[in-house]
Amino acid sequence: MIAIAVDGPASSGKGTVARRVAQLLGYQYVDTGAMYRTVGLLCQRQGVDVRDPAAAAEVARHIDFAFAFRDGALVVYADGEDVSFAIRGEVVGAAASAVAVHPPVRSALLGLQRALGAAGRVVMDGRDIGTVVLPRSQLKVYLDASLDERARRRHAELPDRAYADVRAELAARDAQDMGRATAPLRAADDAIHLDSTRLTIDEVVNSVVRLARERGG
Ligand code: C5P
Repeated sequence: MIAIAVDGPASSGKGTVARRVAQLLGYQYVDTGAMYRTVGLLCQRQGVDVRDPAAAAEVARHIDFAFAFRDGALVVYADGEDVSFAIRGEVVGAAASAVAVHPPVRSALLGLQRALGAAGRVVMDGRDIGTVVLPRSQLKVYLDASLDERARRRHAELPDRAYADVRAELAARDAQDMGRATAPLRAADDAIHLDSTRLTIDEVVNSVVRLARERGG
């Protein structure tokens, strides 16, 4: 009945790894970034300035979130709409990172995230899962990869964009996520560090599953 926390910078492979580990263990995969992305998306749609803490928090608090699991992975509904596709892309990613700086936005989402993790049998990924959301999780993984490698992976998904722009956007988002005062991206003291720069996804997945088994997963 363990909970597994996976944190790390953008495009480190967290989502892919967390989803596969959850499938192999028969757990649910909860992508907390999707919630911040949903807040960013709705701010954009409503013309709300993502830099305005009170206005962004107002948007976050008024979203009627519903969650479902499709093939074991979290699907986010906002006010009845499945936002899975609308929240992808780096424009919404940047908006998510901007709203995620604000403490009242984070508090609006924290209870929902903890509730999804409360029963265990969950792999949850994000930036502050091991440090803030599930600090008592039995296994914490900090998944990293070099900026060049992460930019290369992201660029492969966005071939129409210039590599240099993709790399600069990732670097800016990481700097904002690591530099914020509340729940910055960092490894928990008891996190296991894995670097996927020279590892395949399967190698990382196998390591996490082995660690989970050792801890009763
Ligand atoms: O993981 P993903 O790239 O989808 O997350 C989008 C943004 O949401 C991140 O850049 C980060 O600013 C924010 N986030 C966060 N805390 C989490 C998950 C995501 O601040 N637990």
